[in-house]
Amino acid sequence: MISYRSTRGGSRGRTFEDVLLAGLAEDGGLFVPESWPVIDLQTLAGLDYPQTVARVLAPFAEGCFDEAELLEIAREAYAGFAHAAIAPLRQIEHDSWLLELFHGPTLAFKDFALQMLGRMFERVLERRGRSMTIVGATSGDTGSAAIHACAGRRNMRICILHPQGRVSEVQRRQMTTVVEDNVENIAIRGTFDDCQNLLKAMFADRPFREDMRLAAVNSINWARIAAQAAYYFYAGVRLRSEAVFSVPTGNFGDVYAGYIAMKAGLPVRRLVVATNRNDILARFFETGVYATGEVHPTMSPSMDIQVASNFERLLFEMAGHDGVRIEAMMAGFRETGSIEIGGMERSGLAGLFVARRVDEDETARTIRAVMDRHGYLMDPHTAVGFAAGQSLAERGYPLVTLATAHPAKFPQAVRLATGVTAELPDHMKGLFEREERCIVLDNDLSTIMSHIRSWSH
Ligand SMILES: *Cc1c(COP(=O)(O)O)cnc(C)c1O
Repeated sequence: MISYRSTRGGSRGRTFEDVLLAGLAEDGGLFVPESWPVIDLQTLAGLDYPQTVARVLAPFAEGCFDEAELLEIAREAYAGFAHAAIAPLRQIEHDSWLLELFHGPTLAFKDFALQMLGRMFERVLERRGRSMTIVGATSGDTGSAAIHACAGRRNMRICILHPQGRVSEVQRRQMTTVVEDNVENIAIRGTFDDCQNLLKAMFADRPFREDMRLAAVNSINWARIAAQAAYYFYAGVRLRSEAVFSVPTGNFGDVYAGYIAMKAGLPVRRLVVATNRNDILARFFETGVYATGEVHPTMSPSMDIQVASNFERLLFEMAGHDGVRIEAMMAGFRETGSIEIGGMERSGLAGLFVARRVDEDETARTIRAVMDRHGYLMDPHTAVGFAAGQSLAERGYPLVTLATAHPAKFPQAVRLATGVTAELPDHMKGLFEREERCIVLDNDLSTIMSHIRSWSH
């Protein structure tokens, strides 16, 4: 059975269930498996998407869920997706494919993991006779996917903070129109960073955390990342070839899921780390220096990030699984805002990860060119991945770009680039007529905490 440890070495021998509920390790590190399973590709041939998820997750979740239970969860989780294949692979050019991950209820790839996570939480809480309060901060996509995954589920409440006026209307409505007793939306008079700081402060307040049984749903949760490894397998098995995957990246979660797939037996030629103008990761893969900069707003806002929270998992691999060293590196990072990794340590992964930054002009040009050439409307995040992938593809290997959002989720950017208005899919047609429920609060910790307290009782 696979057990889990913290990247910082403080906790070891944890079960999948511990890791699922805890999110972050007690020492502030991220959970990683102590060993890797080997998934036999032959056993994946001919499986549909839920079956693939169950088979891929089973070795990681052993002791908590078996494959049959995972299949039950996955069947439910993906039942509401608007495409029969759930994650269709669409050929766009010779040897170039798009893996469409936006057919879920909130039109971005985050539905893939969160629809599973909400149901896994529900089952574990039921078994333990416990309840919990999920709190999260969002700049758009995570919040809506998490709300849709947890609304109406037993033993949990979910409260999402978003910066007032700083998420798109589609993103806001996808959160605020979910009217369920266990869902609370708070718009903060402040920025996304303010929301994140409020969240950190709530988790750091031990009495509040324990009293409210706080839980997190951000992308550092191991179960979330592991669930995403499934679509890499699904694509690889369908193409029957080692492939280059190009992944539009922010928190390094989705592309790290590709690394998990490779560690668990999927032949992967390359993982392209595609960033927008917020290029901390692209700079790292070029220079070995991981240094934060200022966050610039772009047309691919879900990647406007200058500290990639999952990156610690890759550092852990590069540092030879030395938790003490990671602890020291992260402490240094908090002080100076930078980490440097030598060429020797990077060389082990240098052939696998390649990175490229795509600026705003190139993103818009890519959306337009793909529309002109193929009549296909791409969202700006996908366009970043597609542009980076095209320039880092390798002859003889299929290029698979992860299409992470539906173009209708970012209609303005798409319209500016092409003049075409992206239509919302049928299941979302009523979005602009539905009633919204949301409370606006000041960026003040005690106000927020007392609000959450009274809402939850
Ligand atoms: C969250 C998100 C990303 C970035 O994913 P990470 O796992 O943070 O790297 C890319 N595209 C879209 C549409 C997203 O919502």
